[in-house]
Amino acid sequence: MDLLECPLCLFLMAEPVTMSCGHTFCRRCVGGYLPSRCPSCKERLKQREVKIMKNNVLLISVVEKCCPDETKTKCQIQEKLKANDFMEALRIANEALHLVPDDQSLKVYRAEANWGLMRFSDALTDLDYLCCLRPSWAEGFFRKGNVLLEMGQQTDALIQFYRCLKLHADFVPAKSQIKKILEAEGLALPDEASCILQVVSEYLKGPCPITSVSDSQGPSHPEGLKHPRGDEGEGKGRREAHQGSKVKHDTGTECCLSLCQAVSFLPAAEEDEEMMMRKEDGHGKGENGHSREKRLSVLTVSDFECPLCIRLFFEPVTTPCGHTFCKNCIERSLDHNLRCPLCKQPLQEFFKNRKYNPTVLLQDIMARLFPSQLAERKQVHDAEMAELSKYALPSSIYTCDLF
Ligand SMILES: [Zn+2]
Ligand SMILES: [Zn+2]
Ligand SMILES: [Zn+2]
Ligand SMILES: [Zn+2]
Repeated sequence: MDLLECPLCLFLMAEPVTMSCGHTFCRRCVGGYLPSRCPSCKERLKQREVKIMKNNVLLISVVEKCCPDETKTKCQIQEKLKANDFMEALRIANEALHLVPDDQSLKVYRAEANWGLMRFSDALTDLDYLCCLRPSWAEGFFRKGNVLLEMGQQTDALIQFYRCLKLHADFVPAKSQIKKILEAEGLALPDEASCILQVVSEYLKGPCPITSVSDSQGPSHPEGLKHPRGDEGEGKGRREAHQGSKVKHDTGTECCLSLCQAVSFLPAAEEDEEMMMRKEDGHGKGENGHSREKRLSVLTVSDFECPLCIRLFFEPVTTPCGHTFCKNCIERSLDHNLRCPLCKQPLQEFFKNRKYNPTVLLQDIMARLFPSQLAERKQVHDAEMAELSKYALPSSIYTCDLF
């Protein structure tokens, strides 16, 4: 997989946020529905922690340096979308897609612009395409469900929300949408994702049951959190207009057919999911992925220098303010000053938790690009540690000498 891709949406990392466990995702991907566990290592995440985490400054500059044009265009579109200038966002996206017709993240933005302009069938075309190429991208199904709901196709929307929740038991907005639809039908819904999936599958069950529910993902938190797309606000009004219309029951052959198609599309078992991933590796990663990988070569050792020791990072740790230091360097620094050495943000809580997990992505990039320098750096580090333990100096004394 491309190193600069977010493991959740598989797009070029946008506004990267590094969790306390050391894994990095786009802000949109984790900030939107605040997972209770890290999607990569399943470590429990404190909601507050995720919320206050700032963007990883170093990784932003790495992504910008590797993909300057891509980053620039997408920032422009994002700005327009945030300002609700959907027309202009659509124009920029179309212009960019004219140059790179296969760019999938541009299609996400275009769908978002079309959604804002209430051009739902245009939005659906792009989302259909994306969901086919990215069967493990939960957010795609969620977006598609919302568009279908706007188009008054509630059963189809329900299937999309089901797929989303099946992929991510933590995806709160999908849960809320399912609840809204089914509670309007007079069904009481539990909070647990696996139970919701069971209810939905029973509800949709006609002659062809949708799938067996065997979700191993843990229970998720019930707090309904706002999705960053902001569709909770003005989108809500539009959606509720459709909420009144009754969901059609799946007794007709047509409905049954669409359900069967849904079943064949759903990854039912572990091995299927794996297969999908493999398919996606060859498929989903377009031209962009490959050239992006090549573009990593613009990075130099000096891009990965610790601001404290001015050497190549060793075990780079990212603080909640988004700055990165060697694990040893920040530990020593915090021993005598509980603020970030760069931006002076208070880091009491970070210090209290003492979870100095290295930023996995930075380690991976360095290992890929500078293996020999990294090995050398490790030798120096080991020698320093050996020297330290010989004199058995408490680290705080050492700190005062050094800084
Ligand atoms: Zn992402
Ligand atoms: Zn993690
Ligand atoms: Zn350092
Ligand atoms: Zn800082």
